[in-house]
Amino acid sequence: MTRQWNVNPELLCDNHLLGEYNEIHKLLGGVVNHPHGLAILRGQQDKNNVDLSTVSKRYERLQAEMARRGFKHDAVLVHRPVFEHGYETQISENRNLEDLWERCDKCRERIENE
Ligand SMILES: [Zn+2]
Repeated sequence: MTRQWNVNPELLCDNHLLGEYNEIHKLLGGVVNHPHGLAILRGQQDKNNVDLSTVSKRYERLQAEMARRGFKHDAVLVHRPVFEHGYETQISENRNLEDLWERCDKCRERIENE
């Protein structure tokens, strides 16, 4: 499931950091390449899992954190036509933080040591 966590990237464990980054790529690339891509994108927006008005900035923040941790990140977000299909969504950072805290020991450790 695609999820734009939108929490401070420093709080994400390596897996969730790379996961969010890759999922954003997959979602936006998938819209262009998949016959039902737009419906999938709409579904993710309806579930408040992604916000195309902030996803570019988010992507840059994830890349910056990846660079800080020494990960390679030479990809560029170039699926611009997709952004015409964005509409405002309500991603809850607090709920996502709780989710990560519950489901991932490594994220929890980072959140508690913040
Ligand atoms: Zn995690």
